[in-house]
Amino acid sequence: MNRETTPGARAGTRVLAAALLLAALATGCGKAGTPPPKGPQPSALPSYQVQDASSITGSPTLDAARSRGHLVVGAKEDQPYLGQKNPATGEYSGFDIEIAKMVGASLGFPPNKIQFKTIASANRETALQNGQVDYYVGTYTINDNRKKLVGFAGPYFVAGQSLLVRKNDNSIHGPQDLNGKKVCSAAGSTPYQRIQSKYPKAKLIGYDTYSACVDNLITNQVDAVTTDNAILLGYAAKVPDELKVVGPLFSTEPYGIGVPKNDTVLRLALDDALQQHEQNGDWKKAFEATLGLSGETAPNPPQIDRY
Ligand code: GLU
Repeated sequence: MNRETTPGARAGTRVLAAALLLAALATGCGKAGTPPPKGPQPSALPSYQVQDASSITGSPTLDAARSRGHLVVGAKEDQPYLGQKNPATGEYSGFDIEIAKMVGASLGFPPNKIQFKTIASANRETALQNGQVDYYVGTYTINDNRKKLVGFAGPYFVAGQSLLVRKNDNSIHGPQDLNGKKVCSAAGSTPYQRIQSKYPKAKLIGYDTYSACVDNLITNQVDAVTTDNAILLGYAAKVPDELKVVGPLFSTEPYGIGVPKNDTVLRLALDDALQQHEQNGDWKKAFEATLGLSGETAPNPPQIDRY
């Protein structure tokens, strides 16, 4: 940045940067004057074989979806390469969305029979408990506390908590450097809870979404954003001149598909579906066409935990 500029002009530049980021996140395009970063290319995405799932019986959730004629799936809409909604078309894309589509096909529902609904981190358990969604796919960590309220198929991916800072920040290298710093995360998330309990000297700020945190990072309102590396790498990849992911991973976040707690038939059917799509190559293809674009290479999918 030009050091000769006035504070007002600098603030203006930051507001502009935030506006550009918002635009980039919304449209999947890059900053003005730079080539747009690659977004998921529809042609690279696998298409999933829709199966006859009539032998799956005894799931109240699935029965309701069958009589409704479509699935309602909870997701995120502001997490690049994972779950992102195109405001112009209303379409959702990303790795989590592909997971939702591949398992939906195994339940007998083609992609055009899936209605996605954005649900924030703090509202996932309630949405599943109230029947607002049939299942939820959105960077949702499986843990024992949540298992008291909902069920989980999977895991289908493993992430870890990390930190996103401004590109020119040289003071934060890991969670040990957060004392006195303003750190932003999504309310109700495991990264938020971990900062609260393990790093109480950080000044923790909670918003509904990570994109709100990222806007505040770019405009200097906070010093760091913390959540899973998979999410942070997506934001950094959209504006690599402004942001960077730093430090080691300091947690293990196995991602599951959230289901209503007592619908064991649905949970086990989703475990079967995940396993089948991992074995037939769909999982890897979906990863490479989505999350792979933020710089991650496809790992081996984790062992599914049927319980
Ligand atoms: N995986 C973490 C969680 O489930 C953070 C990401 C999120 O908030 O979705 O809380």
